[in-house]
Amino acid sequence: MSKVRHVLGISGGKDSAALAIYMKNTYPELDIEYYTADTGKELDETYKLIDNLEVYLGKKIIRLAGAENSPELPFDHFLKMYGGFLPSSNSRWCTKKLKLEPFEKFVGNDPVISYVGIRGDEDREGYISKKNSIQSIFPFRRNIWSEDVISKVLSNNNISKISEIFETLPSNERTMRFKEILETPLSLSYNLHQKLNQLLDLNIKDFNKIVFTYIQFTDYPLATETSFPLLENEEVLVRADIFKILETSGVGVPEYYKEIAFEIAGKKGTYARSRSGCFFCFYQQKIEWVWLYEQHPNLFLKAMEYERDGYTWIQDEPLSELIQPERVQRIKEEYIKRTQRKNKSQSHYLLDILADAEGEGCASCFI
Ligand code: SF4
Repeated sequence: MSKVRHVLGISGGKDSAALAIYMKNTYPELDIEYYTADTGKELDETYKLIDNLEVYLGKKIIRLAGAENSPELPFDHFLKMYGGFLPSSNSRWCTKKLKLEPFEKFVGNDPVISYVGIRGDEDREGYISKKNSIQSIFPFRRNIWSEDVISKVLSNNNISKISEIFETLPSNERTMRFKEILETPLSLSYNLHQKLNQLLDLNIKDFNKIVFTYIQFTDYPLATETSFPLLENEEVLVRADIFKILETSGVGVPEYYKEIAFEIAGKKGTYARSRSGCFFCFYQQKIEWVWLYEQHPNLFLKAMEYERDGYTWIQDEPLSELIQPERVQRIKEEYIKRTQRKNKSQSHYLLDILADAEGEGCASCFI
């Protein structure tokens, strides 16, 4: 097997940017290749973030692009190929052509560890390549391993193997309780996540050592490494930590995350954009479309120009209808109501309502 490559994809979003900063500072010994797959349709703030990050990292962020030799921007090139058919959550050709395929071409068949910025306060796995030669690691979570690794390690079939591995830990690190949990089979009343959480509650580092030793008997890319510094990782980073990392590093938080005040029918609210990605991304909430219309009218007009031959970004609502004054008013009023309900129930962060939308969509565009 060739040497393992360590890669980190910068989507242009805050989490992957913060992860790059975090990895540089926490694990300087890892030689990480940073890359970004450009659709050509990001907001200017995203390109600025990538430039700032490059300066901070002191390392080139490799620009990947689908349709490399085309005279058109990558998105437009493929849109033409698809006959003007706009992508949607059910038919997401954009991610495939503009993100995943360039990435898979970039890594080829090399064994790769790919660091992914899903946070400790998120419950999702994100895109992960189906290629066996690519292994994802999640440094912001207490469980740094991907779901496929965990389900193998904790499967009932592997209990005796994992127990044997446990016995190889130095004796002062072994506890009876840890062993008991490892040896408890999964069942209808005891699922994988319960077992995983109990083990992590007891000792994250021991758990990591067991997984790493198990991996040595597999063909995961990490099997070729004799050590891995993230085995010692016990940190869990949540949303507020991400903003702090971006601010204190000087890289900065992209402007579009900052809340802007608005007033409608005597009621006050604030709005922002919840994530990076193409300015016309169909994952946007209606309030984010209104934000685009009011804060970046030229981009909104460009998004409108893509709506042709019955294709629209939002199902059953062309953008020309969304910007009718009474519709804008209703979207804003509903958004204020939703924000108030949310604030009453739990959080004082207005942006959390937009954060709810973060989990949706495509990890390669938004993390
Ligand atoms: S940001 Fe949205 S539109 Fe752009 S590539 Fe990703 S999913 Fe597609």
